[in-house]
Amino acid sequence: MSVSTQIPTTGRAWHLVARPQGWPTAADFALREVPVTEPAPGRILVRNLHMSVDPYMRGRMNDVKSYIPPFQLDQPMDGGAVGEVIASAAEGINVGDHVLHGLGWREYAEVEAAHATKVDGSLAPLSYYLGILGMPGLTAYAGLFETASFKEGDAVFVSGAAGAVGSLVGQFAKIKGASRVIGSAGSDEKVALLTGKYGFDAAFNYKNGPVAQQLKAAAPEGIDVYFDNVGGDHLEAAIGSLKVHGRATLCGAIAQYNDTEPPAGPRNLALVIGKRLRLQGVLVGDHTGLQQTFVQDVAGWLRSGELQYDETVVEGIENGVAAFLGMLRGENTGKMIVSFTR
Ligand code: NAP
Repeated sequence: MSVSTQIPTTGRAWHLVARPQGWPTAADFALREVPVTEPAPGRILVRNLHMSVDPYMRGRMNDVKSYIPPFQLDQPMDGGAVGEVIASAAEGINVGDHVLHGLGWREYAEVEAAHATKVDGSLAPLSYYLGILGMPGLTAYAGLFETASFKEGDAVFVSGAAGAVGSLVGQFAKIKGASRVIGSAGSDEKVALLTGKYGFDAAFNYKNGPVAQQLKAAAPEGIDVYFDNVGGDHLEAAIGSLKVHGRATLCGAIAQYNDTEPPAGPRNLALVIGKRLRLQGVLVGDHTGLQQTFVQDVAGWLRSGELQYDETVVEGIENGVAAFLGMLRGENTGKMIVSFTR
């Protein structure tokens, strides 16, 4: 039987209304009122409290076949969100519970209960389940420990190092005994944060000069592991600096997500042969088997104070697209979150 509290008749949801060419603009999106309905049997109605804006969503705005289907035009967009259950027609989930689910970009989400995971706001702030305790956190953990086969004593370079995934990669490596951790980011303030609060051994601002030169200066003896969030000149520089039998995790290529032409590089791929490098892609969805150890480790490191975590919070669903575009431009430190106040 359905149990519910007050259900509004409508709520706002972001729709993709045009497929962006190059950088998206505000005109590609529309915030529209849509009906809110009682949950069907086996489903729940959630009032979203926080939603995630992530780089992969840019790819979903293109009409291309990928590992995740494109957003449909004139339909609500979706993505990670955490909210409070306000009506339930499902066993085991009650009004007042908090859940993590995949129907963000809207104020109210009617969700199949099997696609919602209960989360505990007394253990960690609810938004953490979209970042450090969620998809980006698991990406960093799996990409470093599984894909890159990180081992104690490795020298690690990570790009996008002040972002959600990158800031965790560098800190995980330090905690697990890296000999040296180097990060790159797009502002001097972020560089100071990396070598200060996050404990990296060295960091540089990729906008201040060629990446290859700056990486060589920061890691004169080379690197064992590269965690790539950026692609392009970062990947080329890392291939140049990787030692024999080095490993790279290819996690993202944000430098080219808004490009309209194919990227030029890396131009030095032949080095992979002589150095016997391993370059391997990672998709977080392949690593859900690590979920339990990941949460145990990360919750422990947070409790002990070994791990630092930042969020950039933008208030209001009406600012969702601005937050997404700001994240692509580097306006976030740590995880970009949109919180709903209404
Ligand atoms: P994020 O790093 O928190 O935010 C994106 C950051 O990218 C921005 O803050 C910006 O920081 C940087 N950036 C933007 N344009 C850039 C450019 N041209 N060159 C260098 N840096 C640029 O995002 P995230 O969620 O942690 O994701 C990081 C990467 O991991 C992305 O490539 C994403 O697609 C990927 N990812 C992959 C998986 C997977 O399963 N494979 C899962 C999650 C994320 P600056 O100020 O430093 O420029």
